[in-house]
Formats: sequence, C-alpha cells, structure tokens
Amino acid sequence: MKYSDEFRDKTIAQRLARAIDAEVSSQRAYRFMEFCGGHTHAISRYGLEDLLPANVRMIHGPGCPVCVLPASRIDMAIRLVDRPEVTLCVYGDLMRAPGSQGRSLLRAKALGADIRMVYSTLDAIRLAEQSPGRQTVFFAIGFETTTPPTAVMIRIAENMRLKGLSVFCNHVLTPSAMHSILEDPKIRNTGGGPIDGFIGPAHVSTIIGTQAYEPLAEQFEKPIVIAGFEPLDVMQAILMLVRQVNQDRYEVENQYSRAVTREGNRRAKNWMSQVFELREQFEWRGLGFVPNSGLKLNRAYERFDAETRFALHDMPVADNPACECYAILRGAKRPVECKLFGTVCTPQTPVGACMVSSEGACAAYWTYGRVR
Ligand code: SF4
Repeated sequence: MKYSDEFRDKTIAQRLARAIDAEVSSQRAYRFMEFCGGHTHAISRYGLEDLLPANVRMIHGPGCPVCVLPASRIDMAIRLVDRPEVTLCVYGDLMRAPGSQGRSLLRAKALGADIRMVYSTLDAIRLAEQSPGRQTVFFAIGFETTTPPTAVMIRIAENMRLKGLSVFCNHVLTPSAMHSILEDPKIRNTGGGPIDGFIGPAHVSTIIGTQAYEPLAEQFEKPIVIAGFEPLDVMQAILMLVRQVNQDRYEVENQYSRAVTREGNRRAKNWMSQVFELREQFEWRGLGFVPNSGLKLNRAYERFDAETRFALHDMPVADNPACECYAILRGAKRPVECKLFGTVCTPQTPVGACMVSSEGACAAYWTYGRVR
C-alpha cells in the first residue's frame, strides 16, 4: 500500500534495530514511555520490543481516550439517557466502556435508552435536524485530534439555530497529562526506574504542533520525539531518544515531519480556542484528577453544554477492584500482569476499559498475542 509499505520495510527495520543496539550503553537502562495507544498497538502488532536490546524498555502510557475516561463520566451519560426526551450520539468504542457497578451504555440501550452510534459529528447534526422535538446530545470524547470537529459542530449548530443539539464534553489535553506524569514521582518512576523520554503522539501533534511539548522537555529535562504510527517511525523515534539520552540532551524532535510542524494546525487551534475553555480539574482513569487537563464549552457557547442544560454533576466512583487498568494506564503494570487478562477478560467479555477500547493496551496484547 503506497505511503504505508515504505514505513514497514523489514530490511530498514533490522538496520534501525542494529543502529539502536550499537548506540545503547550496556551500563544503563533506557525506559521510554509511548504516550499514545496508537504507538502501543504498533509496538505490539509488529513485535518491535523483540527487536530492542534487553535494556531498552517501552512503557505504555495513558493515551487512549476511552481508557482514561473514568466510570463517573459513563454514569453521567447513563443518567442523561434516563431522560425520555434525550437521544445520545456516541462513537462505537464507548458503548461498552465500563461505568460503575457493571453499567454501560450498551446495557442502557438494551434496556430501552435512545442511544445512536455515529461516525462523525455531522451524523449528530443530521439527527438533531431530523428530530426537532428531541434533545440530541453528542458524547464528545478524545484528545486534541477530535476536539476541532466538535468545535466546528457547535459553530454549525449555532448557524443553523439547532436548539435541540448539545454536547457532553469529555475532551482532554495531552501536554497536561504528560505534565502530570512527569510531576508525580510515583508515576514518573513507575515500574522500577525513571522515565527517560517520551514518544509523543502522531495525530494529536498534527493539531498542537511540536512547540506544545517544548516547556515539558525544558522543565523536566526529558527528551520527547514526536513519531508516526508505522513500525519504522517508532524504531527511528527510539533511536532518536537513545541518542538524546546518550548526549544528555532533552529536546523536542520531530520524527513525523511528513505530517507535523512546529506550529501545528493554526485554524484548528483557533476553532478550539473560540469554543472551549479549560476545566480546573478533570479526572483521568489512572492519573486521577489532573489540573487544566479537560475542556468545557466557554461562556459564549454554554447553552450547548449538556452538563449545564441538564444539570448533570460528576460523582466520582471506584473502578472494579479486580481490574488493573489503573496501574496499566500509569505504566506500573503490563496487561499480562493482570490476573483477569485472557481468562475472564477478553475483547468478547471485557472487564475494563483497556480491553474495551480498540486502542487499549490490553486489547493490543490480546490481539497480537503478546505474553510479556
Ligand atoms: Fe482490566 Fe481486563 Fe486489562 Fe485486566 S485485562 S487490566 S481486567 S481491562
């Protein structure tokens, strides 16, 4: 496949593996976190860890939007669809995301709630247009990649005077989460030693640009390499991180220069800033409450905010204690260290969000047969 195959070339992958092997020092360990679930899947799918020297370890980060969404937010959505006038529009992965006490949107739908799976924000607009007597709520979720389409949807709804459309906003921000990981010594030193550097997300960085990570690299003296999702992208990013560590550098480097610029997408960032503002705190599964890490609609667009319109309140709840998603999303454990992995918990019978989501680390390990 053009534009993909050239980034999956076996000979080049082996050459990169030899280059990494030649450059790592046997006197130290290298521990790199890939923030994004897309990279976790590439690493598992192509067996990239098997190409790395034993002292280079990849730690899986929290960059999967469904995985980090806490159960309380699913509970809020379920309370929302208890209202007979509400139609809730959600992306497919969210249907099975766990709320508290075994609840999910799929179960709510089976019990009669009006929940529709959509592929884009435009589907929600269409539905709202076709159902003027109902309250259509879009369950907005995701990092900076999916936030601009939500902003555009709200602007369209405003222009079309769609009074029945609103947004249940769960958008979260990557740099704030990375800041929280680096700031908290319990997470920063998770799983037996400090994190030496990050592979930064691909799609998110097309929007926010590499400059968004510069304060983090500077403040915490950690190298960050933005990388694409193909196996050669990841291998090259690891080589770039190894070089920075060996040379005592902590810069933001851009491996994914075919799509990412320093500035990012100015138009998309403008849309976001016109419609959203920061929440003081937002809860992440795995990271807990992270300051300035979530978005809500700003005062000018508050009338489209489902939390305001329906007086919804967040009530934190505990996760299933048998599920290790909390530790996995902090990089403290690997999926195979969970007692339920592959026995009680599989993609057909998922217990936790990391198995529910197609981007989750547990789903990646199961799908690609990783055993360590
Ligand atoms: Fe949770 Fe299942 Fe992953 Fe265990 S295997 S951490 S139960 S999602």
